[in-house]
Amino acid sequence: MDKEIATPAKTAETIKKHGFSFKKSLGQNFLIDTNILRKIVDHAHLTESTGVIEIGPGIGALTEQLAKKSRKVLAFEIDRRLEPILTENLRHYENVDIVFEDFMKADVSHYISEYFQGIDQLAVVANLPYYITTPIIMKCLEEKLPVQRMVVMMQKEVANRLSAKPGTKEYGSLSIAIQYYTTVEVVMNVPHTVFVPQPNVDSAVVRLTFREQPLVSVIDEPFFFRVVKTSFAQRRKTIFNNLMSGLVNKEEKEILVNVLNKAQIDPKRRGETLSIEEFARLSNCLYTKLK
Ligand code: SAM
Repeated sequence: MDKEIATPAKTAETIKKHGFSFKKSLGQNFLIDTNILRKIVDHAHLTESTGVIEIGPGIGALTEQLAKKSRKVLAFEIDRRLEPILTENLRHYENVDIVFEDFMKADVSHYISEYFQGIDQLAVVANLPYYITTPIIMKCLEEKLPVQRMVVMMQKEVANRLSAKPGTKEYGSLSIAIQYYTTVEVVMNVPHTVFVPQPNVDSAVVRLTFREQPLVSVIDEPFFFRVVKTSFAQRRKTIFNNLMSGLVNKEEKEILVNVLNKAQIDPKRRGETLSIEEFARLSNCLYTKLK
């Protein structure tokens, strides 16, 4: 049997043989530690009937471990230069397909219905390109992909923002958007030494388990997210001032005063102190008064 892909020796050999050069602009930091990869895969709770979507297979280090533990893997890779490498490295795995497309532009729902026919358990597992971590996660959530969970590696700092609780400096509109759709767990910290090339920052693996229903019930989702974003527009400003400058007209000032009162939210509070439930209450009251 061939050596596993994710060892320092095999990675160096692959890179040299194919004359591959890393593109920093594509977030190409490849994992060279098989133990870490196995742990990531364990956190995804895969079974023989799970289908997996991977974003950015690189030279196939994580793909290989996913192929061993799941029914089928569909990976999206933007860099066509990796095609000969992936073909060679993954030649023993018949349950892997690679689509050479920008994940952000791909019609992922369509691929899912074509490729995973008859499979109803789906997970996204990836060592994400760090320059687009948030857009990739938001795409999966907003397009309401039929997946049960995502287990994804990202910069530690971003992981802390996703899981942040009210009253902390990491808490913001991103924490709320992610927690609205999923339960968030930081399951593992990963040092920068297990990548080539080594990034400047440490990483963390986050498990996002999709909720059957969003955490709170809101009348209008786009309006809810507008209220949240506007409330954090200037973190030092009070919620009242942020909403007055970004969402509510001068003539509607009294409405905002009444709504905050009715929602039992002190207008002097800052956005970062409000729980998701409070944001839902506020946006629902405001929606009915302004629309
Ligand atoms: N999975 C490999 C590993 O763990 O060693 C590589 C991970 S590397 C951090 C990120 C990968 O995502 C690279 O292979 C990069 O080319 C790819 N990538 C970057 N932007 C992408 C995009 N928009 N769509 C799909 N793949 C992308």
